[in-house]
Amino acid sequence: MTTTTNGLEPGGAAPGTAVPVLVVTDLRRSFSGVQAVAGISFEVPKGSTVSIIGPNGSGKTTTLNLVTGVLAPDSGTVVVEGRPVARRRPEEVAESGIRRTFQNGRVFGNLTVKQNIEVALHAGLSAHRPFRPLAAVPVLRWLSLIGEVFVALAGTARAERRQMDDAIATQVDRFAERLGPRVSHLAYTLSYANRRRTEIARALAGNPDLLVLDEPTAGMNQTETAEVLDQLLELKAQGQTILLVEHKLDLVMRLSDHVLVMDEGHVIAEGPPAEVRTNPRVIDAYLGRRHAQVAARQAEQAAERGNYAI
Ligand code: ADP
Ligand code: MG
Repeated sequence: MTTTTNGLEPGGAAPGTAVPVLVVTDLRRSFSGVQAVAGISFEVPKGSTVSIIGPNGSGKTTTLNLVTGVLAPDSGTVVVEGRPVARRRPEEVAESGIRRTFQNGRVFGNLTVKQNIEVALHAGLSAHRPFRPLAAVPVLRWLSLIGEVFVALAGTARAERRQMDDAIATQVDRFAERLGPRVSHLAYTLSYANRRRTEIARALAGNPDLLVLDEPTAGMNQTETAEVLDQLLELKAQGQTILLVEHKLDLVMRLSDHVLVMDEGHVIAEGPPAEVRTNPRVIDAYLGRRHAQVAARQAEQAAERGNYAI
């Protein structure tokens, strides 16, 4: 690889300016002719929190799916720590340093809290990957990870086992009061909020360069939301880089360094939270329509709570 005299790749950041953890350029994806993401570009600098807001259907989740390899873009690039990841499989993207949670929450109902977190740790280990070929088949992707966890449980050396237990304990400690007494409980027996906490703990267990959260407080009440906000503020203070999609504007405003506003697949405004909040286009496109959507959304979230377990 060619490097310049300052040791950076050509076109790299100037000395003193950190290379962003994530650089998305002109990303596009349509479904049946409808442009869900219509050419968006943004960066997530190291240690920062970038949030995407916008009405339902504006392309937020699709953007996260493109960034995390769940969907392939029609065009555009996704670069993580200088390495292109677009069109890579989700587990490859995860190994490149991006870990995520899902809008409707995804935990393995028949695994314990501890095993759910362990899935993330094992995905980061290179040994014991007998189920890797299964990951190429979308419906078997998660199955391969579960298989690997059980192989790892059987084959993990004692020192490695202790390391894993420590790493799991670190994550459980983040939610000590909530998850601490429940580490051995099967996830399907947990409350909705605890399943979401388990999912966040799992994402963090991989020590991600970039933590991607799709509506982490969806379906949570005010107290639960405030707790998650505290957690995220603490993570941010520890230097964690975060890409967040969230409807609760107070949380977005408290946490974000930079806010992108999407509407119909486009970024219609962006900037620091205080600036975005008062932008007339944002008020019109997002806040205005939002009132009409709140009732529909609450009904949707109530339904999500009802059939959550997988
Ligand atoms: P948001 O997360 O902002 O609510 P989404 O990214 O989920 O929006 O959706 C953006 C648009 O893309 C919507 O019109 C949605 O119906 C469509 N869409 C998203 N995913 C798919 C898919 N897998 N197949 C077809 N259409 C999709
Ligand atoms: Mg969404």
